Amino acid sequence: MNSPIAAADAPEILCSDLVRIYASEGVEVQALQGLNLRVDRGEMVAIVGASGSGKSTLLGILSGLDRPTAGSASVDGKNLLALTRSQRVEYRRHTVGFVWQQTGRNLLPYLTASENLAMARSVARRTTHNASTSELLELLEVSDCADRTPSQLSGGQQQRVAIAVALANEPHVLLADEPTGELDERTSADVLEAMRGVNRELGVTTLIVTHDPTVSDHVRRTVQIRDGRTSTEVLRRTEQHESGDERVVAEEFAVIDRVGRLQLPQEYMSSLELRERVRLTLEPDHLSVWPGHERERAEPDATATDRSKQQTATEADDD
Ligand code: ADP
Ligand code: MG
Repeated sequence: MNSPIAAADAPEILCSDLVRIYASEGVEVQALQGLNLRVDRGEMVAIVGASGSGKSTLLGILSGLDRPTAGSASVDGKNLLALTRSQRVEYRRHTVGFVWQQTGRNLLPYLTASENLAMARSVARRTTHNASTSELLELLEVSDCADRTPSQLSGGQQQRVAIAVALANEPHVLLADEPTGELDERTSADVLEAMRGVNRELGVTTLIVTHDPTVSDHVRRTVQIRDGRTSTEVLRRTEQHESGDERVVAEEFAVIDRVGRLQLPQEYMSSLELRERVRLTLEPDHLSVWPGHERERAEPDATATDRSKQQTATEADDD
């Protein structure tokens, strides 16, 4: 499991230029269009995006159920495109655990909560574990549900047990696709907090997909997917004021990929009528983006000259 490639500072999840095209009855759907994502070991990240933006497609690939059309994806140092059939089975049993939106899909209906956990363990055939099944139920605060079947549990309890089941084989990565999609607002916030507790206690890298924008209240990093690409990220941090007060600050960033591509927010595009091409100017500490169409521009000539010098320099570098 600890291959030499999986160095301590290597990312747990790394997707580069991930493409997934579904072709059915002659119609092509580009569900992922060159998605880039990096998640560090032990990090907890939320993926948000409108319905149809490619979130489940991404999770299907990371869970080893689906294969990308192009690009690369690795989890825990394992290249998901190169896994053989038996390695894929092994991967799904030991490296990743998942929780689905539909509470009924996570648990076997005729088994109690603790039997569901025991079943997950027996399938994986691992003999030693760091935590017992009752400790896992305790961590998710559902010890009192151990001897109940799913139909005897509330939606929130079912999802907590489902998280415990997903953790039964002590995976490196926990993947959850809309785990709170069928829960009311308060229960949903409780389940997200439970996942945060698990992330903190066990150090398991956690990726939660949701279309609930309030998820960013529960995680340090929220990545937005738009049209099959990662477009923006919201980072939350706690600031300490001189008065001693702590304040949570959330800041939104545009994501820039390895080759320098970024997506401008639609509202910026429309308010400045940006389309097809823009003019870029490099300033000492930032870039300016100007509409590229031939309209009256307030751009000073000196800057234009600087830019052409800049271009010449870049071209020279390329040689
Ligand atoms: P999300 O989870 O963000 O709602 P999905 O990943 O499920 O989005 O879907 C992304 C796009 O891919 C959508 O346009 C969807 O209709 C399409 N899609 C998903 N699964 C399939 C499939 N098996 N066959 C064809 N198209 C699909
Ligand atoms: Mg989905």
